[in-house]
Amino acid sequence: MSEATIFEKIIRGEIPSYKIYEDDETFAFLDINPIAVGHTLVIPKKPTRNMLTSDAETFLNVMKSAHMLAPRIKEAVGADGINIGINNEPEAGQEVFHLHVHIIPRFTGDGHKHWGGSPYESSEVAENTQKKILELL
Ligand code: 5GP
Repeated sequence: MSEATIFEKIIRGEIPSYKIYEDDETFAFLDINPIAVGHTLVIPKKPTRNMLTSDAETFLNVMKSAHMLAPRIKEAVGADGINIGINNEPEAGQEVFHLHVHIIPRFTGDGHKHWGGSPYESSEVAENTQKKILELL
């Protein structure tokens, strides 16, 4: 069995955290290095590496808690918006390998930048991409 992640230790209370919420399936606590005040992580109690490895029920339990918490956190810290983020695998910025949803309060003029996008280079590339995805559904 792989070694327990830091988040499993937080669930068990072996590492302290500022707990926000807990139910039978999920646990939420303040991120130790917040992007903004109130930045919260929601995790399943059942360990799974990330969203890509998670069964649908575990993932939906986490999202249900995030859905309940996000507007309350927004109100509590007086935020103007909320970003929801999930990093899956190191290339996508994942550092702790226990599924977690970031609830990140956003404030007018906070200066955080969104990803830049650019159009597909041609309709063929877009159609081919669509085809490859549809083949797996
Ligand atoms: P990731 O990059 O994997 O999506 O995000 C991991 C997050 O976990 C980071 O935002 C980081 O600040 C947070 N984190 C890492 N270790 C701890 C810890 O021991 N306690 C808390 N509360 N947050 C942690």
